[in-house]
Amino acid sequence: MKNEFVVETTALTKAYKGKMAVDHIDMKVRDGAIYGFIGRNGAGKSTTLKMICGLARPTEGDIRIFGRKADDPMCARWIGALIESAGLYPNMSARQNMIMKARCLGLADEKSIDRALAITGLADVGKKKIKHFSMGMKQRLGIALALLGNPDLLILDEPINGLDPEGIREIRQLILDLNEEGKTFIISSHILGELSRISTHYGIIKEGNLIEQVSRESLEKKCKDYFQIEVDDTKRALSIVMEHEPGIQAEVCDKHIIRFYHIKDGAGLNRILLENGLKLYASGFHHMDLEEYFLNRMDCMDTEKKEEGENA
Ligand code: ATP
Repeated sequence: MKNEFVVETTALTKAYKGKMAVDHIDMKVRDGAIYGFIGRNGAGKSTTLKMICGLARPTEGDIRIFGRKADDPMCARWIGALIESAGLYPNMSARQNMIMKARCLGLADEKSIDRALAITGLADVGKKKIKHFSMGMKQRLGIALALLGNPDLLILDEPINGLDPEGIREIRQLILDLNEEGKTFIISSHILGELSRISTHYGIIKEGNLIEQVSRESLEKKCKDYFQIEVDDTKRALSIVMEHEPGIQAEVCDKHIIRFYHIKDGAGLNRILLENGLKLYASGFHHMDLEEYFLNRMDCMDTEKKEEGENA
């Protein structure tokens, strides 16, 4: 059953009344990955995840799960999902909720229920009704439900939404432990700092288009350190620096800010600018994190689109 990719989509598309929610995406999720799925509200994350789980029918395109076509009945057994609300019965206990779901899945074995409750730390909650559960407990139960049948791929849509730091920490640890056991994850979240603590790969979706898929290692290289200066005249500042260091890699961000990459001597660069009479308002080294990279990527796409429009 082992396959390099647990999920592979080709030109996967979903249109609602002619409007593209997901637009020909080629998504690749490696076996053993924790794939962080990122995008603004309405970008198409949930729709993509629902199609992978078989909860929404693609308008076009192909989905392979462990190399098999997604409509193969085996695929449903390999996937456990927590998408949008967990669909819990509020007047039932955790175990009763699990029994209901196990019956729907045709699982007669109660061991699977005990195991999922134990893994998620819910083995001892007894008869307490779900309506009295904390948000974190409900999310853990959602994951326990997804774990029924011991699936290889877990798809979690916003699993840490609304959780306090302790709840987030618990879910993070749970995901890491399960990943250590060999389970592959696709996780969508708006909490990018948290996602960057666990993800091994990222997919960035914008207006239905998968604009980037990148491994953590590649992202770390891309999120390189830079030296940023804020000056009165970026054009002059750039030409002065270029004169002193001809091969330097620079990026003019707006009319006052320039970023220089692979710089070691920030003080030296400041001195050159000041000696040449530039007004230097601020300068310093930065490291781009996932959030900044994501926002840059989004802005850069917006700018490219605007320029395309202007040039049309
Ligand atoms: P969020 O982060 O807000 O959950 P998302 O990235 O998950 O957003 P989707 O829920 O997949 O985005 O929605 C993508 C687009 O498809 C949106 O424009 C949304 O309004 C639309 N859409 C989603 N589900 C339906 C539906 N059942 N009927 C019509 N349009 C839909």
